[in-house]
Amino acid sequence: MARYTGSVCKYCRREKLKLFLKGDRCFTEKCAVDRRPYPPGQHGQRRSKFSPYGQQLREKQKVKRIYGLLEKQFRLTFDRASRMRGITGENLLLLLERRLDNMVYRMGFARTRREARQLVRHGHFMVNGKKVNIPSAVLNVGDSVEVRQRSRKIASLGDSLDAVERRGLPAWVELDRNNFKAMIKAFPTREDITMPIQEQMIVELYSK
Ligand code: SF4
Repeated sequence: MARYTGSVCKYCRREKLKLFLKGDRCFTEKCAVDRRPYPPGQHGQRRSKFSPYGQQLREKQKVKRIYGLLEKQFRLTFDRASRMRGITGENLLLLLERRLDNMVYRMGFARTRREARQLVRHGHFMVNGKKVNIPSAVLNVGDSVEVRQRSRKIASLGDSLDAVERRGLPAWVELDRNNFKAMIKAFPTREDITMPIQEQMIVELYSK
């Protein structure tokens, strides 16, 4: 499966927004957006004005990068969202939130979604008691995610669980830290997604 392996801080600088892709580093003075608050590259400091298409494109890129998806998978998620009842843009965000890799991050078993994706791929989690290593698996209310017994000594787990305490656990997740287990109490709602996202622009972009 293809994945981006370059610097993720470039992504934040491109959007001129903290996308929180590097865990604790994002909260320190080392954050690249704080140090160089302009887009990367030779012409990054030039004033840029986006066309309506450019704005839509930036919005789509931003959401893809927050959730760590490449174009093909993002487009498939959008297609699925557009077939669901309700508002396509909201459906898209909520489907992204319900992905297993995002849930592992939200539950505090990983410091970033990227790390969560890798841990899932390496088979460290069980969903409802069964091993699942597919980061794109979409979870439902009542599903439980548990770190496998043999994986509980991974050194980064303790740090990740500490980090989620600082970051705040979402209201729709219940965490049993002692047993390395968490449950989805409810579906997240649009209001639970606090990053500044204008999902309608993504719908407009893909509707062209
Ligand atoms: Fe983005 Fe975090 Fe890098 Fe700052 S440290 S630029 S928020 S990934």
